[in-house]
Amino acid sequence: MTANYYNQAKYLLGVAEMKQLPDDTGFEVAFAGRSNAGKSSLLNALTLNKQLARTSKTPGRTQLLNFFVLGDDAERRLVDLPGFGYAKVSKAMKGRWQRVIYTYLEQRQCLVGVVLLMDIRHPLKPDDLMLIDWAKRAQMPMHLVLTKSDKLSRQQQIKSLNQVKKSLKDSGLNDFSLQVFSSVKKTGLDELYGVLDGWYEL
Ligand code: GDP
Repeated sequence: MTANYYNQAKYLLGVAEMKQLPDDTGFEVAFAGRSNAGKSSLLNALTLNKQLARTSKTPGRTQLLNFFVLGDDAERRLVDLPGFGYAKVSKAMKGRWQRVIYTYLEQRQCLVGVVLLMDIRHPLKPDDLMLIDWAKRAQMPMHLVLTKSDKLSRQQQIKSLNQVKKSLKDSGLNDFSLQVFSSVKKTGLDELYGVLDGWYEL
């Protein structure tokens, strides 16, 4: 499938509670990451739509999960999960976000994969490891994306990739695919489209 398919993404809705979720049919891929990991930028690059993920930005917003549809039939959706670890929100708020994220992940039958974004310079923070560990236990397909690769030289990028691989292997979490990505340079888009095509059965 070409980028054209992803370029037709449209905002569907934002939900604050599980009972507001769209029908649990078709295919959903969720995008997760710490705040500032580059999730909005990646979603914008993926869909060639600068406005797409802006809706998800305000901390403390009531809409916690944002859904975007691909294609005409709304059967394939992208889900923008709230960024973990936003420094300026209260502990209670963080707890609520985490509950919402994991409730969604655990209940959603149509979830076919999770893309976890990590800044290439700060990968595998505790929130990331918790999600990777969850995916392994839940047998949920996961794809790891090291973002902002343009911040490092090619050599440093390879070093970071290898360090992450080794670290996951040492923790018994090496089941997942891994790539580098830059929204600025648009590198890694084809690799990401390939993973999504597989999950969406395109
Ligand atoms: P989010 O909080 O995960 O949605 O992160 P954003 O997409 O808003 O990005 C956070 C910051 O990182 C912003 O200042 C972006 O301009 C910057 N950023 C995001 N992606 C890239 C990238 O690929 N390269 C560089 N150099 N900066 C990026």
